[in-house]
Amino acid sequence: MAAQTLEQLISAGVKGRPVLVRSDLNVPLDDSGSSPTVTDDGRIRASMPVLQKLSDAGARVIVMAHLGRPKGEPDPQYSLRPAAARLAELAPFGVELAADVTGADARSKAGSLDDGGVLVLENLRFDPRETSKDDGERGAFADELAGLAATPDGQQGAYVDDAFGAVHRKHASVYDIASRLPAYQGDLVRTELDVLDTLTRSPDRPYVVVLGGSKVSDKLAVIDNLMGQADYLLIGGGMVFTFLAALGHDVGSSLLEEDQIDTVKRYLDAVSGSDCEFVLPTDIAVASAFAADAEHEIAAADSLGQSAFGASAIGLDIGPASAENFAEHIRSARTVFWNGPMGVFEFEAFAAGTRTVASALTETKGFTVVGGGDSAAAVRTLGFDDNQFGHISTGGGASLEFLEGKELPGLTALGE
Ligand code: ADP
Ligand code: MG
Repeated sequence: MAAQTLEQLISAGVKGRPVLVRSDLNVPLDDSGSSPTVTDDGRIRASMPVLQKLSDAGARVIVMAHLGRPKGEPDPQYSLRPAAARLAELAPFGVELAADVTGADARSKAGSLDDGGVLVLENLRFDPRETSKDDGERGAFADELAGLAATPDGQQGAYVDDAFGAVHRKHASVYDIASRLPAYQGDLVRTELDVLDTLTRSPDRPYVVVLGGSKVSDKLAVIDNLMGQADYLLIGGGMVFTFLAALGHDVGSSLLEEDQIDTVKRYLDAVSGSDCEFVLPTDIAVASAFAADAEHEIAAADSLGQSAFGASAIGLDIGPASAENFAEHIRSARTVFWNGPMGVFEFEAFAAGTRTVASALTETKGFTVVGGGDSAAAVRTLGFDDNQFGHISTGGGASLEFLEGKELPGLTALGE
């Protein structure tokens, strides 16, 4: 059964109806100033169209979202206030923020919403039941959330899931709530799924996948599935050191997941003789410490421990020769999926690999997809424009789990 669409909801009539929308407002913040500011508003922008359509149609919109990983209790550091403020700046409609999630303020503000008004609830993860493993706890929280969409005049509420970045989570606002209200799929989720379908069903070849970033074990799992689909797997970022170690190389003090070395060895074996090829860096930018101003040099990828910094050498970026090799593969690709920065791009001295890869994506004639919160932030902070890429996904983990072939609870709940 296909999920019901936002179009279907709107054409059924939403004027005066409370509509709970799960959006992805999980944006990176800069806390260094007097009040936190949003450093990459990509997810807020991507959430706008659905909110706008519902507001235009006269719905009373209640937005549910999370930010970061607070510990199941209110924590000002993780308030959605900066995200709601940015939404209010971008939006032609009014935006209010509730002081709590399903408490007195949320109930009162939800109950007095005007037609077309938009209320953002505080961070869902301020309530431990949102992410609870216990079905009963999550269910009780989902009941409270659904209760916000109850009106005295008995208008039936509805639920729209537009948070692609959270569809891989079995959380109350993503999974349990969908069985408590008529549930619909938001346009952002639809668009993201269409792109991923293209990647999995019939990618134009060569199909090049570039993987990096820091969540090594999270990202290794996807390789299993991609080995049967992609023509080239380009590996950079923090996970590359687990590959280099699996080949028997000395990686100094670089990021390494020793318990994954056997898995990586299996991948390397499985791929030899298949139609897929791993492309690993041959040179690495190593530093004396994990710091923006650390001393650094370019070292051969097979002997980081013999660089100037010896056993304390930390690999923080792929080297220039490797970046150029990656770029050549990308430029001659017809389809590119990229997840995870090639190095610690937040430090200018170690941003070159990520910049070279991003540039190559903008130069290739192929269809390009960038996934992952930090990867999206990287291309924007390095000065690239969204429209230089085929698609910038709002969901890192979600797109990886989709490509792994896993069932995604948020989609199952919508009947996808
Ligand atoms: P995404 O959000 O795009 O999925 P991740 O969250 O997995 O990406 O990883 C992003 C982080 O990876 C960045 O903050 C970057 O600094 C870090 N990173 C990249 N290369 C390395 C490395 N060699 N060592 C440590 N961290 C790295
Ligand atoms: Mg990340």
